Amino acid sequence: MEINPINNGIVIDHIESGKGLEVYNFLKLSDLDCTIALIQNVPSKKTGKKDIIKIDAELQLDFNVMGYIAPQAVINYIKDGKVINKIKVELPSIVKNVIKCKNPRCITSVENVEHVFKLVNKEDRVYRCIYCESQAE
Ligand code: ZN
Repeated sequence: MEINPINNGIVIDHIESGKGLEVYNFLKLSDLDCTIALIQNVPSKKTGKKDIIKIDAELQLDFNVMGYIAPQAVINYIKDGKVINKIKVELPSIVKNVIKCKNPRCITSVENVEHVFKLVNKEDRVYRCIYCESQAE
């Protein structure tokens, strides 16, 4: 498949195969009016298959969210057709307002407070609510 390279914008590479749409939805890319390409199941030497998102606009990304959804992703900033910056996202130790606590008795269900989850097991990617310790699904 031929996808035109972008001149100024962002390429989110090495998204775990199948997660591209989740990243797309989470970043609310459908709200943008620039050219966006979501390419799924791209053959990759490293992982077999990967998803790629190309955004033809300069954009502020929430790396916290990116790291949670796609911890293997690499973000390439493109200017004048060249990669000027490459950022490897990481699994964040704290995630705010990305996961919602499912515990009906948790303070987050009763009061209007931030949903904050803490990484408790990096290997298994386990997050727990900082208020009630409920595990994120
Ligand atoms: Zn909770």
